[in-house]
Amino acid sequence: MAYDVAVVGGGVIGLAVAWRTAQRGLSVALVDPDPGSGASHASAGMLAPVSEVTYTEEPLLRLGLASLRLWPAFREELEEAGRQSLDHRSDGTLSVAYGPDDLAYLSDLADFEQALGLKVERLTGRECRAYEPMLSPLVRGGLLAGDDAWVNPRRVVRALLTAFSGVVVRGRATGLIRAGGAVTGVRTEGAVVAAETVVVAAGAWSPTLVPELPIRPVKGQILRLRGAPGFLTRCVRGTVHGSPAYLVPRGDGEITVGATVEELGFDGRVTAGGVYELLRDARELVPGVTELELAETTTGFRPGTPDNLPLIGFTEVKGLYVATGHHRGGVLMAPVTAEAVAAQLAGEGDGLGPCDPGRFA
Ligand SMILES: Cc1cc2nc3c(=O)[nH]c(=O)nc-3n(C[C@H](O)[C@H](O)[C@H](O)COP(=O)(O)OP(=O)(O)OC[C@H]3O[C@@H](n4cnc5c(N)ncnc54)[C@H](O)[C@@H]3O)c2cc1C
Repeated sequence: MAYDVAVVGGGVIGLAVAWRTAQRGLSVALVDPDPGSGASHASAGMLAPVSEVTYTEEPLLRLGLASLRLWPAFREELEEAGRQSLDHRSDGTLSVAYGPDDLAYLSDLADFEQALGLKVERLTGRECRAYEPMLSPLVRGGLLAGDDAWVNPRRVVRALLTAFSGVVVRGRATGLIRAGGAVTGVRTEGAVVAAETVVVAAGAWSPTLVPELPIRPVKGQILRLRGAPGFLTRCVRGTVHGSPAYLVPRGDGEITVGATVEELGFDGRVTAGGVYELLRDARELVPGVTELELAETTTGFRPGTPDNLPLIGFTEVKGLYVATGHHRGGVLMAPVTAEAVAAQLAGEGDGLGPCDPGRFA
């Protein structure tokens, strides 16, 4: 039997694409030896296009904002179809500053964000601590991005696996099947999955199937601490020792502390230096974290692209579609990606222009 669509990779992107595509009445097979085990397992799950904005990445901001707007309806539908809470919270991100340089940086950023029409509130140190009493007494000021939100990405993946009504093939894709210049399916270790269209959504591993894709693994080490609910109520970010650090609270009291950014290929080790730096920086933002239990250390590989925008769309090869390269924002961008891909596969949409996979050719 040939499926309409075979999706290779069951991270948050492949699963969301498979779910939305099957909802449109297409027959879909998802191929992955261990769905949800990639970057989506490591991810902090922040849906934070406003507080993560940079001066040079406006197209990425637009895409992130479009997806953030889709998240409430996506969440509602997925919680019902996936029969679980996603621990979605929308109390915003508090970015804090210590010294005059940090304060000046946040003030410039606030000007830039307000010029783009984004909602941010400038706060004094005292106002920051009124929002988050566990913050360091050294915090001098901050910015509250009230529209930023976050989810538990592991729950999102589990819910998507439950909600997806197609077939899950638990095997590693070893190659694409080609006939007459077109891709006609996927070969796995034990089977052949024939499909009219193959969607490669294998995150940082996508080039193992499509070597010409300009994707590289960007290693991130991340920690999970066990605390009591209410320790923090918002995501807290800051620049400590020159690198960004963040803490993300969950409903069950877990605090996720992230994350390193390392260009080391597929080096899956959790290092003493990585854990040290994450805890050191988290303690500067919120001194009380040292009292919490260190519950987990994890490494993940963000699928990075040269311009930090994903690669989404049909390729020049007939039957081959890609949905990958979401770098540090795959959880945020899952709804907008899935809707655009499903519409395009159903012959109803034009895709996401700036993400055209042919733009580096
Ligand atoms: C430490 C860290 C923190 C992050 N924090 C955030 C955040 O706060 N917010 C946010 O939006 N994003 C965040 N990200 C980024 C986000 O996690 C990624 O962009 C997203 O998970 C990418 O999803 P994906 O489905 O493309 O890839 P992955 O989740 O990596 O999934 C790829 C899947 O492909 C499968 N696969 C690989 N090779 C094959 C093959 N040959 N055959 C079949 N299957 C295969 C793997 O088993 C895996 O399940 C973070 C990432 C890291 C590492």
